[in-house]
Parts: sequence; structure tokens; C-alpha cells
Amino acid sequence: MAIFNHRAVWQACVLALIGIVLISVGIEFDAAEAIGDWIRRHEAHEVDEVMFALDIVGILSIIYGALRIFDLKQERKRREQAERRADWMAVHDSLTGLHNRHSLEEKLNQMGKRHGGRFAMLIIDLDGFKRINDLVGHQAGDAVLQAVADRLREHVAADSVFRLGGDEFVVFVDRIAAAPQLARTLLQALNRPVIFRDTSLDVGASIGMASCPDNAADARECLRCADAAMYVAKSTGRGSLRAFDNSMREQMLLRDRDERDLRAAIRAGRIKPYYQPIIDLSDNRICGFEALARWEREDGVLVSPGDFIPLAEETGLILDLTESLLATACRDAMTWPSDILLSFNISPIQLQDQLLGMRILRILSTAGLPPSRLEIEITETALIQDVRTAAAILSDLRTAGISIALDDFGTGYSSLAHLSNLSFDKIKIDRSFVSSFQDQERQEKIVKAIVGLGIGLDVPTTAEGIETANQLASLTGMGCTYGQGYLFGRAMPAAEAARMLSTPRGQEASA
Ligand code: C2E
Ligand code: CA
Ligand code: CA
Repeated sequence: MAIFNHRAVWQACVLALIGIVLISVGIEFDAAEAIGDWIRRHEAHEVDEVMFALDIVGILSIIYGALRIFDLKQERKRREQAERRADWMAVHDSLTGLHNRHSLEEKLNQMGKRHGGRFAMLIIDLDGFKRINDLVGHQAGDAVLQAVADRLREHVAADSVFRLGGDEFVVFVDRIAAAPQLARTLLQALNRPVIFRDTSLDVGASIGMASCPDNAADARECLRCADAAMYVAKSTGRGSLRAFDNSMREQMLLRDRDERDLRAAIRAGRIKPYYQPIIDLSDNRICGFEALARWEREDGVLVSPGDFIPLAEETGLILDLTESLLATACRDAMTWPSDILLSFNISPIQLQDQLLGMRILRILSTAGLPPSRLEIEITETALIQDVRTAAAILSDLRTAGISIALDDFGTGYSSLAHLSNLSFDKIKIDRSFVSSFQDQERQEKIVKAIVGLGIGLDVPTTAEGIETANQLASLTGMGCTYGQGYLFGRAMPAAEAARMLSTPRGQEASA
């Protein structure tokens, strides 16, 4: 019995046994009478009172011992409960109660050791979840995830459904033939709105489906196939279901190859910052450079950031890439005059990284560049995802002396809310307004309004994408502070930027 494994119980039993033996021996040899006689003979020395006191102490000790054993049992129960809870937490997601990613990894490892399994996998990604989180708030987002988990549990056994993180779920189906019908049932179930505090929240889901051994040799590959199918489903439109097919395998292999190439390029330092001049419109001089990443391929082709930054973000390589680009950019900026600012773009997902401020400051201090010479450019997308974390990171950066520019202003949503809640040192007016405002009266009014907003808030504005002298004249007339665009110069290698700064005409822009 488990209770006898306990030291205290075991000791009590041994002592009880010794007691029984002593009592039996005592009865056998009339010890009680002998002791009684002895006490009576020594009554003058108060031995009887001492013996009485010992009896009382003995009885109390028994009660004390019993109470301690009871306490120990309670303590043991509590500890076992805590252990069970910790074990549960390790493999479950605390919000939804579903198995978590760690648990999925364990399952995949176990399945990887077995060969010849037949099963299907569904990857479910919610449609419109981010919008609910951003617009209605995190509590609404949590309520949606809990409702989704409940609906999944209605149709799938609890140990076959996993939350991958965010709004992604994985379902294992033992019978491959049953998978398509189950997927359709889940799509229907998840399409019902979720009611949160009397508000009806509209969610839906897209599902990718793959099976083993038809599509993949093992569970891990099957998961990747289902993921590829899910991406295609998502691009098809809300509420789609797609089964993996061989046309997706090509995509998958291409993506794998791209990721390998990108990793190698970062490691080899083949992705470098190029520099586009930023001009002070009051005196037409260069006041800074924006670092724009360029991948110099071995065949001499320059790849633009639009082609590799999204992949770097999806694969998490953006962290390494940013560290290497910023370190190079800071070293380059150290060769410029001390009043020339370095502007550097940060990806939206990096504003979820609580250590971002520390990482940036470490790079600055290694290069010896003062924080006041660095400006971080962020887009509004970065703010919508988790505004609290983003605001905390931005505030850390500003406290350290780094300035913050709001990039691509006017292209995201709720821009004005961000301007009123957060402090920025610069507003960058998106190129789409600047490049077309000469043709469209409305666009010109918008640019005028943004410049006016900047003046009102005492925040300088930079117009991006200035290509013609007409645009420049118009923007200068409106009171725009800085300008950037092909008219002044494209993004160029470090050596060229340095040459531009040291031209005989001083820092004047080579317009
Ligand atoms: P962005 O921050 O809005 O950068 C401005 C983009 O406009 C650059 O494109 C620049 O080359 C282009 N541009 C500048 N002047 C003109 C002009 O007069 N006319 C036209 N048509 N285009 C102009 P690029 O270099 O292709 O960069 C695209 C985007 O990639 C950037 O947009 C930025 O969001 C992102 N990016 C670039 N470098 C980095 C980086 O190091 N890290 C991160 N996270 N993102 C980066
Ligand atoms: Ca930028
Ligand atoms: Ca921009």
C-alpha cells in the first residue's frame, strides 16, 4: 500500500510494534503490579505523580503523532495535485485547454519512430481573427479562441486536437476517408458567429488537409503538406478547404530552397544596407540616409527587400538579418559627419520582441554610434498587432535617445488614434500620395492635411517618393520638412553615399 511508503507512517508502525511487544512482555511478567508496588513503596518521593504525568504526556504524544500524520497526508495530496497541474500545463494551452505545440512535437516525435501509419491531418486557421483582436480587443480574441476550442472538442477527441499557437489548430484524423467530411463539418461549426458581451463576432476558418502515406512519408512531413494546403486555401478566400496535391509540393520545395538560400546569404553577409538620402527641404542639404536592404546575389543580381523581407519575417530569420544589417549600417554611419542621421526600418513582428530595445542599444554601443543619431522607422501594422507591447518598446527606445518615425503614413488604418496615443518624432507621408498628387486634386488635399497635422502636432513630416521638381516645389510650398525620392537619389552602396556626402558642393543634394 502506498501509505506505507511514507517514512512517518512506517516509523509509527515500528514503534506500535515495539509497544505491543513491551505490553505483552509486561502482561506476561505482571510488570504493571510490580511497578505499582514499586510506586507505592516510593510514595514519599512523589513517584506516583511523576508516573501520572508521564501517562498524560504519553496519551498527548499519541494524539500529536496522529495529527502530524494527518498533516503529512494532506501535504502529500497538495503536492501531488501541484505536480499533476504542472504536468498538465506543460502539454496544454492554458487559454483553451487544448493540447499545445509542445504536446504536438511529442506526438510527432513518437509517430516519427513508428512507420507505416495511416492517418490524415487538418490545419485550421481562423479567418478574421486578427481583425477582432485589433478592433474589439484581446478579451474578445480570447473568447473567440475558447469558443473555437469548444466547437472543435464537440467533433474531435480531445487528444487529437492541438493549438499550434495564435489562431492555428491541428487535428489528427485516424480514418483518412472520414477527413474531408470532418473538415466540412468543422468549417460549418466555426462559421457560426461567437457572441461576446452581446456583440456578435464574425469568424470563420480555412482548412488545409493532407494524409499519410498518400502525401507524406511521416507525420512531420504530413503537417508541412497540410500547412502548404492551408496557405492555398487561405489565398482562395474565406472558409475554403483544400487538400494537398502535388502542385503544392513544388511550392513547398521552392520555399524550402528560398529559406536555405536566405539563411546562407545572411550568414555570408550578402544582404547589405544601401542608403537613400533624406533631404532637409529648407536648405536642400542631406540630413540623413535611410538604410534599405539589398541582397547582392552571386550572379550580380540585386534582390529588393519586397522579395525577401516577408520570407525573413515568416521564418524568424528577420532577427538575424536585422542584427547584421543594423551593425553594418551603424559602422557605415560612423564614417559620416556627426549631424547625419541613420534611418532604419524595423519589421512589424519585431515590435512584439520585448528585447528589441536592448538588442538595438547593444549594436549601437558596439559600433560607437550615439543613440541620438539613429531613427527607427515603423509602420502602423506594427502598432495594430499588440499596441501595449509596441508602445512599451517604443517608449524604451525613445528614453534611450533613439527617435521614432511613423512610416507609410496614411496607408494603414486608425492612424490618427496612434498619433494621439503615442509620441513620434517624424511622420513619413507614403509615396502613393506623393507620386499621384500632382494628377489628383484629392490626393493633394490629403498630403496638405497630413503636413498640416504634422505642423499642428509639432512633428516634422517627410515626403517619400519625390520624383519630379514639380512635386518638390509643391511639397516645399505646403511646409513639408524633409523629402526623399529618386529626384535626390536612389538607395546606393555605402561608398557612394560617403562620396555623395563629401562632394565639393558640401552636403548639397545632387538633384
Ligand atoms: P519603405 O520603408 O517605405 O522604403 C521606401 C521604398 O520606396 C524603398 O523601396 C525605396 O527604394 C522606394 N523609393 C524611394 N524613393 C522612391 C521614388 O522616388 N520612387 C519610387 N518609385 N520608389 C522610391 P525598397 O528599397 O524596395 O524597400 C521596400 C520596403 O522594404 C521598404 O519600404 C521597407 O518597408 C522594407 N525594407 C527595406 N529595407 C528593410 C530592412 O532593412 N528591414 C525591414 N524590416 N524592412 C525593410
Ligand atoms: Ca521606411
Ligand atoms: Ca515608407
